[in-house]
Amino acid sequence: MWFVRRRRRVRRTRSRSERVLYETHKERARVIIHERVLLWAPRIGVTPGRIAIRDQRSRWGSCSTKGNLNFNYRIVFLPVELIDYIVVHELCHLHEFNHSKQFWMHVSTHLPAYDLHKEALHRVTHHDLNKRIQTGMVST
Ligand SMILES: [Zn+2]
Repeated sequence: MWFVRRRRRVRRTRSRSERVLYETHKERARVIIHERVLLWAPRIGVTPGRIAIRDQRSRWGSCSTKGNLNFNYRIVFLPVELIDYIVVHELCHLHEFNHSKQFWMHVSTHLPAYDLHKEALHRVTHHDLNKRIQTGMVST
């Protein structure tokens, strides 16, 4: 699940302040993600493998073929309905490892308004997030 348009150049090095942000928020991100996964995984009927919180520049979440899930620590700056969309999206990949019609049917079973969340998430750019983080206008 991407949140930076791929054509934009992605810097590879992290500044000190970026590392501090990650260190500051990753534990809370872990707590929130675990809580949401515990809620959704049984409903969706899947058992995820390892869950990791990362400082990913361009993804909100990802899923490996082994069923391990990665989530971006920046989810702490999103409203809970968008966090749930990201969690449900990745968990549904444990049923369908693609973005087929079948996959979106799984997602819509659990989140009927998923397309609104998908759209809202598309509108959140890296730049917006950083601005919100800096000005303290973050919703959690
Ligand atoms: Zn996906």
